[in-house]
Amino acid sequence: MQITAAVVNEQGGDFELKTVDLGDPQSGEVLVEIQAVGLCHTDIGVQHGHLPFPFPAVLGHEGAGVVSAVGDGVTKVAPGDKVALTFNSCGQCTSCKDDAPAYCHEFMGLNFAGVRLDGSASLTSDGAAMGSNFFGQSSFGTRAIANERNVVRLPDDADPVLAAPLGCGVQTGAGAVLNTFQCPAGSSLLVLGGGSVGLSAAMAGAANSLGVIIVVEPMASRRDLALEVGATHALDPADGSIAEQVRALSPAGVDYVIDTTGVPAVIQDAFGALAHRGQVGLIGMPVDPETVLPLPVIPAQVLGASVRGIVEGDSDPDTFIPQLIELHRAGRFPYDKLIATRSFSDINDAVAAQAKGEAVKIVLVHA
Ligand SMILES: [Zn+2]
Ligand SMILES: [Zn+2]
Repeated sequence: MQITAAVVNEQGGDFELKTVDLGDPQSGEVLVEIQAVGLCHTDIGVQHGHLPFPFPAVLGHEGAGVVSAVGDGVTKVAPGDKVALTFNSCGQCTSCKDDAPAYCHEFMGLNFAGVRLDGSASLTSDGAAMGSNFFGQSSFGTRAIANERNVVRLPDDADPVLAAPLGCGVQTGAGAVLNTFQCPAGSSLLVLGGGSVGLSAAMAGAANSLGVIIVVEPMASRRDLALEVGATHALDPADGSIAEQVRALSPAGVDYVIDTTGVPAVIQDAFGALAHRGQVGLIGMPVDPETVLPLPVIPAQVLGASVRGIVEGDSDPDTFIPQLIELHRAGRFPYDKLIATRSFSDINDAVAAQAKGEAVKIVLVHA
């Protein structure tokens, strides 16, 4: 069928609305009418070649909408069901079998190859294959082909605008606190970066009744928002060393550091704010995929520090996304305050607005 998609024709190019062809859902796949799709930093990173992906490409990986058809063998959802789309996983490897799909052994092939594992592409333009199946969805379009594994059934009264960002950014930040570290009540958390991922981590910290929740963020508007959604302190990195600023507030240091910046100098500075047996979670995507993080060995040993890489907040989306929806409904996770909507056709303006900090999380909606 023909759909309208936002196509990136070459690395660094703008999004261009075009009519392209979407194939039928194959075995295990789900055709979804996209009603809303969040704009995530990873879309922009891939647009600019920070991770390799074939062009012309259809990106988008925080889709939400309604199932319009299913391929053979799909039992989890049926036409008419509301769904959120998330990252894809194989369901067969040892990580998937251990309920850790974010560390699926096929993660790169299923989410970043631009084709299905069999080499076919769900999207074509004038008969030529396009970079498709991004995060098992390529949801910057009016419809998308997802997979039974990466659709999450939503309650019938779910708002697609609120559901969309749960599929990546929000579950990533919240999951680092609630799944990876399971930060206990009264513990202390330092979040580096006050974008949608960082603020989701701060909000999850507040939901878990942490003691000190500090967000470091250069934009004043985002520092204000951090305090509004649950941070106890918001620091400006321009005011000096993060470690010194944090120790002025919390002399023993912080139990957890969650980095959403991917900038080694920022993480190294924050390492000096770590408490004994403190843990560092690395979430942020570096601009350069070859980025290396040097850390001081003896202080790490003396502290008993740990450093963990984290993908998608260690989320099992089928259980964690409904959990976040419940926390939001209970008033304990006010992530709607991060969201602004724009028309899908204004996607380039939306990218510019998000980069300038005019909105923390833009969700594109089809008019
Ligand atoms: Zn797997
Ligand atoms: Zn993302």
